[in-house]
Amino acid sequence: MRTCSVCDREYPREEPWRCSCGAPLDYASQPLPDSRPAQFSRTSGVWDFADFLPMDERVSLGEGWTPLVDAPGWDATFKLEYLHPTGSFKDRGAATVIAEALGVGADRVLEDSSGNAGLAVASYAARAGLDAEIYVPASAKEAKVRRIERTGADVVPVEGSRESVTTACIDAVESGAGWYASHAWNPAFFAGTATAAYEIAAQRNWSVPDAVVTPLGHGTLFLGLYRGFRALEQAGWTDAIPRILGTQAVGYSPIADEEGSTPDDAAANDLADGIHIRDPPRAQQVRHAIDETGGAAVAVSAAATERERDRLSGAGFHVEPTCATATAALPQFRERGELQDGDDVVVALTGRND
Ligand SMILES: [Zn+2]
Repeated sequence: MRTCSVCDREYPREEPWRCSCGAPLDYASQPLPDSRPAQFSRTSGVWDFADFLPMDERVSLGEGWTPLVDAPGWDATFKLEYLHPTGSFKDRGAATVIAEALGVGADRVLEDSSGNAGLAVASYAARAGLDAEIYVPASAKEAKVRRIERTGADVVPVEGSRESVTTACIDAVESGAGWYASHAWNPAFFAGTATAAYEIAAQRNWSVPDAVVTPLGHGTLFLGLYRGFRALEQAGWTDAIPRILGTQAVGYSPIADEEGSTPDDAAANDLADGIHIRDPPRAQQVRHAIDETGGAAVAVSAAATERERDRLSGAGFHVEPTCATATAALPQFRERGELQDGDDVVVALTGRND
């Protein structure tokens, strides 16, 4: 059973892909384990957390259990999500959304993406023996598009803005072309990204940091972290929820703009193309997560993104520009008091693909 996050209407598991009121759907309840096992297995990737996951099927390419490493130059700890099989944290959600596709009997999945989510969904669909159709901006980097094509997926380039890519994909879903495995809309995707929170807690011997920082476009990892830490606390495995801090790209920063944290003088940040989302369907849920955790969102300039990406490379962390916004924003969060001296902060390095 799924429910609407806005009007509480209830729907079966198979369809529709969103509420008749237009809002995203979520699972009616969050599965929780009875107790924490004395020995915790680390052999099945995200499925080690199956007790927290609402789907019955499983698909895996070896996602999950990304390293958590010290980053003294940033006074933080990094979660190396870019070491995932297809190069980004999206593998967590792709594993669970494709498992859900199997569970509801879908044989063709559709997704729209600027790159990483498309590659992840196409790869996990291939693993599961499902057909995939991925809508991408006509301007997407050729190397990213080629990678998606090599999975055997049908790639559909769409001219115009990022929003027109989503519109084209939704039109195809509405006309019956396939099941929408969306990283923005499908609750199964967010159940998967929540495993990042479970892992961070497990890797810290079931303690939580003071804050976690992640790039924020649709909120796919941002909301996954919030939901995961909330589920852990509800299950009694941990006793707090960290502040969830999001980083947006200047010019594409609806949440940061509301908080008045966007620099006035900076040009649009065209480098951080993974978070070029002006109207995220789960914006209300992101605001709620910020309010509930004492979190925040700030916008990061292209100059700061480029500088920080070079600095990360120079320290051995080979990430894409979108990901560099997360560490680039640390000084802003510290100036604004959202991070304080001595805070224990985990930064998600989300993607490696250029
Ligand atoms: Zn509704």
